[in-house]
Amino acid sequence: MIPFDFDYYKPDSIEEAVNIYEELALKNKHPLYYSGGTEILTLARTKVIETGAVIDIKDIPQCKVFELRKKEIIIGAAVTLSQIAEAKYFPLLKKVTLFPADHSTRDKLTIGGNLCGTIIYKEVVLPLLISDSKILISGKKGNRLVEINQIFDRKLNLEAGELLVQISIPRENMERPFYAVKVRNQGVWGYPLISLAAVIKHGLLRVAVGGLCAFPFRSRKLEETLNNKKMTVEQRISEALKFLPAPISEDIQGSAGYKSFVFLNVLQETLDLLEGEIK
Ligand SMILES: Cc1cc2nc3c(=O)[nH]c(=O)nc-3n(C[C@H](O)[C@H](O)[C@H](O)COP(=O)(O)OP(=O)(O)OC[C@H]3O[C@@H](n4cnc5c(N)ncnc54)[C@H](O)[C@@H]3O)c2cc1C
Repeated sequence: MIPFDFDYYKPDSIEEAVNIYEELALKNKHPLYYSGGTEILTLARTKVIETGAVIDIKDIPQCKVFELRKKEIIIGAAVTLSQIAEAKYFPLLKKVTLFPADHSTRDKLTIGGNLCGTIIYKEVVLPLLISDSKILISGKKGNRLVEINQIFDRKLNLEAGELLVQISIPRENMERPFYAVKVRNQGVWGYPLISLAAVIKHGLLRVAVGGLCAFPFRSRKLEETLNNKKMTVEQRISEALKFLPAPISEDIQGSAGYKSFVFLNVLQETLDLLEGEIK
């Protein structure tokens, strides 16, 4: 049971959603955009969050789009992880959307909720960080299309009231050689100990990592080292821990020592598979 009352709005346009948010915020209702609602309801039940109103985005056409266009794939923020996993496009993204939770839960979880939520893992961002993806954001100042690497730093840094509308991924990046893996400490549906997505573009390896630090990341310095063929594979891997953006996080998934051991093994697997593609 949710121990407080809140209003429910279901606008059918972006403009209406953004305006409703603005009005409710001015009335101190602490509104939240509501996509699959799984995280909001879980946190509301335990009173970790309290809101006076939710704005359901599932009737907004642009948020439901899932389309392969001439040059890009467009994924609306309210598209579920199951929809992405079942589609034929972008094998790397398909694979990573199978990482969180179990099949029936993924019918509810949305890509927008995964990117904007408070859960630190946000595994679906990993393939986006290495695929030149852009995101379309709407707010009271209008729309902006931003490269995900410019706005995702530890989390998606939206301004108050901004709505994540869509993700766009260049089609040319969808069929590149890739590797993706999730290592769990607990069960078959647990949060990641380490998750990694890797792709080769123009003969260079790109990697994004989750679970290791307290947020998902892509590190250019780590990539430079992994691509440096003047060193042996073993040397490159042994250097990798120098280029993390933050200390390794100790949590219920594992100690820092165990996580670094698993991370280095995952890098070895990645290079075993993709080293031949690095030029
Ligand atoms: C059983 C279970 C297991 C899980 N395991 C994993 C895992 O292993 N790895 C992992 O990465 N994640 C995992 N998750 C987290 C999950 O992926 C996210 O919490 C989920 O995707 C939230 O989606 P939602 O649509 O329900 O979000 P919602 O509950 O609707 O929203 C979550 C937050 O994002 C905000 N928001 C949603 N959409 C937008 C938008 N378009 N614009 C701006 N703000 C928005 C909301 O206001 C809210 O604050 C798990 C979740 C569950 C329930």
